[in-house]
Amino acid sequence: MPSYVIDEKCDGCKGQDRTACMYICPNDLMVLDAEAMKAYNQEPEFCWECYSCVKICPQQAMDVRGYADFVPMGASVVPLRGSEDIMWTVKFRNGVIKRFKFPIRTTEEGMAVPDGGYAEGPGDLNDENLWTEPTSGGFDTLPTRS
Ligand code: SF4
Ligand code: SF4
Repeated sequence: MPSYVIDEKCDGCKGQDRTACMYICPNDLMVLDAEAMKAYNQEPEFCWECYSCVKICPQQAMDVRGYADFVPMGASVVPLRGSEDIMWTVKFRNGVIKRFKFPIRTTEEGMAVPDGGYAEGPGDLNDENLWTEPTSGGFDTLPTRS
């Protein structure tokens, strides 16, 4: 089932031009009704149910009814994202609540090295090497067919 907005919780990201859910959706599905200050999914049939909007919404106003292999039947699953970790709260249909907390980064914010420490490749779009090849592949030169 595609994502949907819980109207009572959505504050339209306090009137910003581009709300958090609009910013994150890989399909550009989320739009803001500027009069009502509520976001909505404009094309639910194109929603991948990727959970990105659910995880980024600062008001926990986005929801997706999860797929059965991830969400037990009749349960709800709500993420709460922090700067270092994400907490998933699962509420089972019998009322039992369980929380699972996972780290979301191994590198301090802003400290990731884009090339992974490997030497840059030729930087030529016509070259068969990718950006950090051949060193990131463990070669001095890319192997060729003989
Ligand atoms: S991110 Fe959440 S609070 Fe912000 S506009 Fe979207 S649904 Fe509303
Ligand atoms: S679940 Fe993913 S594809 Fe669907 S609206 Fe949210 S961000 Fe977009």
